[in-house]
Amino acid sequence: MIVDSCFFIDNSQVKIYMMCSAVALGGYGLYKLYQTGLGNIYHNIKSYGFKLLRKIPKIEKEVQDEIAKSVQKISQELKEPVNNYISYHQLPKEGKSTHCIKLHMEEMEQVGNFNCKQGSASGTVYSNNPDLHKLWIDVFPIFSRSNPLHPDLFPGLRKMEQDVVRMSINLFNGDGSYSGCFASGGTESILLACKAYRDWGRTQRGITKPEIIVASSAHCAFDKACHYFNIKMIKIDVEKETGMMDLKKLPKKISRRTILIVGSAPSFPHGIIDPIKEMSEIALKHNVPLHVDCCLGGFLLPFVKEALDEDIDFDFRLKGVTSISADCHKYGYCPKGSSVIMYRNKELIHNQYYVNANWMGGIYATSTLIGSRSGNIIALTWATMMKLGRSGYVAETKRIVELTRYFANQLVSLSEQYSDSIYILGNPKLNVVAIGSKYFDIYELHNNLLKQGWAFNALQFPASIHLCITQCHTREVIDQILVAIEEYLCDITIKYQDNPDKTEVMINEKSSSIYGSSQQISDRSIVEDVARGYLDNLCN
Ligand SMILES: *Cc1c(COP(=O)(O)O)cnc(C)c1O
Repeated sequence: MIVDSCFFIDNSQVKIYMMCSAVALGGYGLYKLYQTGLGNIYHNIKSYGFKLLRKIPKIEKEVQDEIAKSVQKISQELKEPVNNYISYHQLPKEGKSTHCIKLHMEEMEQVGNFNCKQGSASGTVYSNNPDLHKLWIDVFPIFSRSNPLHPDLFPGLRKMEQDVVRMSINLFNGDGSYSGCFASGGTESILLACKAYRDWGRTQRGITKPEIIVASSAHCAFDKACHYFNIKMIKIDVEKETGMMDLKKLPKKISRRTILIVGSAPSFPHGIIDPIKEMSEIALKHNVPLHVDCCLGGFLLPFVKEALDEDIDFDFRLKGVTSISADCHKYGYCPKGSSVIMYRNKELIHNQYYVNANWMGGIYATSTLIGSRSGNIIALTWATMMKLGRSGYVAETKRIVELTRYFANQLVSLSEQYSDSIYILGNPKLNVVAIGSKYFDIYELHNNLLKQGWAFNALQFPASIHLCITQCHTREVIDQILVAIEEYLCDITIKYQDNPDKTEVMINEKSSSIYGSSQQISDRSIVEDVARGYLDNLCN
């Protein structure tokens, strides 16, 4: 994940910042308040004070130097694994042999410290089914030279694309009057939906300053959509206990400008399913659309009833749900580049289209963001769904959900064993378990796991980490991870057990974790600058 590698910020930067903010506030006392959480009220003042300080050239220069140092460090860490290989800045003079190319690629696949295919990573790689992978290799050549931008030239591919969308709509209990389309991933599905609702709001309701209401747990793709399409985002903090959309606050945020409410099933950070049924009722009552982001749960939730005999309300059976996004490239176990966006009616999807009748290159009409695209990803998605069939998805849903619950239960008993040192955020039931701690810096645990080859996702606000369980995680893998966590908890509790005021000490244990430090920087533009530097490294 980007966020993981973004924040290798040198600690001295934070020190400068702390110094400055202390000066700005006239004392360390308020800063301490801030650390305890009470100080959140001071957040803006402090940030403002720091921004003022940055106007002083000397301080700004120091900040810039620290940002540059952090970026430099990121750059080194990114390059490190491939430092010993030749980079090609020019085409090879003569083409290389297939043998040589294959050797190099196989070597590139091996570099780095993580073996994602064997469960090293949270999420990331979702399929781990040798039969399926063999099928991909077999069918790869069939559509590898196709371009569905021209459906007239590839009618068979168009039919298969329709099959994928129709099968998906069916899974979410939509019927023939529903429509949808294939997209390159969850982000594209979400961008498309937001664009569709924006234009729908404008044409149907005359809304010129559109607003989308999301819970703070909604995926960042909605922020991105608002950024791209000039939509205002209204964020509601999730309920503290449950991590769900706060239903009490929702109606108050709905206005004449609301073009959409968003629910997650489940949310990316903590794997929590929003109360979609209640949200649907609120949406109906106020006559505003409701999108359910099923990108993560899309190919698990529809099978939960059959796999575990549990009822969860999340799909088109709820009358207020007007659209759903679902990623085939997550729990659909398809190759990356595969997602569907589905709508309750044609009126909505019509607002998603881009049509230009006057282009010199011909009449141009596309339903999605991209132009030319790979037909193969459609073919591979179709093949995957056909190969696994309903029973394949049901069986895997059962395994993954049960493994997730096993992981969560084991964590709870570990915490009980080790002085309540960790807690789970909300009550995750599906595929993601997020862990936090009131007593120690959870990013230290994160670093510790990373060193042992386990790449959890680092989350912030509140500081926590999560594991998203995929087909790559077997019971053995989960048990190994649990052992690593237990060893860490054992160490940390031994370290503090002689101290009568354990809690105090653990909280005040100053974070040496860099990610932990970054969360304390209230001037987020510094963190953003470092993140941009990180992107510079990827793009150059
Ligand atoms: C993964 C995810 C997305 C975005 O999908 P990409 O495929 O990464 O573009 C959106 N929402 C949720 C809940 C997700 O988990």
